[in-house]
Amino acid sequence: MRAGEGGAEARELAEARERVREAGGDALLARLTHLDGARRAPAPRPGPALRAPDRGARADYDVVIAGGGLSLLLAPLLASAGLRVAVLDRARIGAAHREWNAGTAELEALSASGLLAKDEVERLVVARYVEGICRWHGGGTYPVRGALDHAIDAAGLLAAARARAEALGVALLDEHALVGHAEGPDAVALAVAEAAPGAVEAAEAAEAAPGAVGARPRALSARLLVDARGAASPYATADLVCPTVGGVLTGLAEGDGPRRIRPDVGEILATTEDVEEGRQHVWEAFPGRPGETTVYLFYYARTGDVGPGALLSLYARFFRLLPRYKEGDARLARPTFGLIPGWTRLTAAPRAPGRRVRLVGDAAARHSPLTFCGFGASVRELATTAADLARAAEDPGAPRAARDAPVHSGTGALAALMARPAGGARAGEMNALLDTAFAVLHAMGNDAYAGLLRDEMQPAEFIKFLRETAARRPEVYREVVSALPLRAIGRWGAGLARELLRGR
Ligand SMILES: Cc1cc2nc3c(=O)[nH]c(=O)nc-3n(C[C@H](O)[C@H](O)[C@H](O)COP(=O)(O)OP(=O)(O)OC[C@H]3O[C@@H](n4cnc5c(N)ncnc54)[C@H](O)[C@@H]3O)c2cc1C
Repeated sequence: MRAGEGGAEARELAEARERVREAGGDALLARLTHLDGARRAPAPRPGPALRAPDRGARADYDVVIAGGGLSLLLAPLLASAGLRVAVLDRARIGAAHREWNAGTAELEALSASGLLAKDEVERLVVARYVEGICRWHGGGTYPVRGALDHAIDAAGLLAAARARAEALGVALLDEHALVGHAEGPDAVALAVAEAAPGAVEAAEAAEAAPGAVGARPRALSARLLVDARGAASPYATADLVCPTVGGVLTGLAEGDGPRRIRPDVGEILATTEDVEEGRQHVWEAFPGRPGETTVYLFYYARTGDVGPGALLSLYARFFRLLPRYKEGDARLARPTFGLIPGWTRLTAAPRAPGRRVRLVGDAAARHSPLTFCGFGASVRELATTAADLARAAEDPGAPRAARDAPVHSGTGALAALMARPAGGARAGEMNALLDTAFAVLHAMGNDAYAGLLRDEMQPAEFIKFLRETAARRPEVYREVVSALPLRAIGRWGAGLARELLRGR
């Protein structure tokens, strides 16, 4: 690093922090800071005061959901099945720093689950697109219909779920962090830190029993603990992660051309340069309410490659390079960000630490490792997951009905490839590969292209897609072999073969 560069970088980080605080307030900045440091914190250990409940102990709740982000949607479903449910979150329950895009299948699943009526779901749709596009630097633009073509009012959805949960008697513990648990034969004891300002962070950082550092302790017990803490869960061990930052912007120029926004077109994926700083950065832009567009910048990474501060430094890049992506006088109205875990299916899956603990959502990382569409995947499986959890509260050994989409056995290896792109003279290879792959998808027809983005592509079709991509770009064999160990390549082939046979 040259003299002066360190100072400039620190200034840029401080400016990024200030812009997030100005738009989102202190509480949101604190959530960013927590998430940015969470991966550094070791798994919480039950404090000395936490004892596993004895056999036959009666639990306070049937189910406690730790994490009231998207997984809050499960609470009303469990309560309407007659279970005693509590939700706790280290911040406010149902106040996720997200905006969501989804397709028709997800909207239908929301109403089919019984959570909301059809007209209530309809009112949550703030924009619909005629098409989406993927566009690669130095390559082409590939339109697709019927994928991620609705913008959902995330705050409205969570507020509706919260109201429904409250009406059904769910206990909602805002600003309560789960900091440890101890499992007994019939129940799980939970160590919960009730937040005095800053106390949760201190308890987590010190790995201490709550109370030891000023948080007011509270002991709860449940027959089933549902870990919905997302990337902050100590059991979120998936091998990939997608740091994502951005938010709802106003002031972007509207019109035709790659540097303007069309309110009826979603930009699903777009790159504006080759690999820089060892990463292929990707933009997304989803128009929402009139005059608003949600814009994200993200990259794929292996979990171990993402250290503390990754989100803030990505925000600095976001503000610096936004004008390269879109014209206009952009103003950040609502920051949205997160670390989305992804699992390649080439390593061991994230596993719950006991029979009476279940991982859901991002902590479990069963969504697509290529699109990271955790909202879509969770909502499609909402009713099935709720039924699985209700059964598990009764009988923790009950088999699960929720199943992995077959296409995920193939896409994880591609995401792993993108997580370690070649740099230097070969920095353009990632865009060239993406351009070839999307040209193939587009040529295979809208059903195949949208099917991959909706997690619906069948293994046989996926293999055809791989073959055609390799025929157009034989370098892909070298790229795969240099990015993935042989063992992983073997698992990839075996996984695909298994799904292929299952589908026959
Ligand atoms: C910026 C962004 C945009 C996205 N857009 C889309 C999209 O358009 N479409 C799509 O399909 N998917 C999208 N996703 C993915 C989707 O948001 C996630 O997959 C989904 O929110 C996961 O839900 P979850 O309940 O597992 O975790 P989250 O929604 O992340 O909630 C986790 C909750 O746990 C709480 N928590 C953390 N630690 C503790 C603790 N110790 N105790 C108690 N609570 C705790 C947090 O405060 C948080 O509220 C996006 C993700 C990001 C980051």
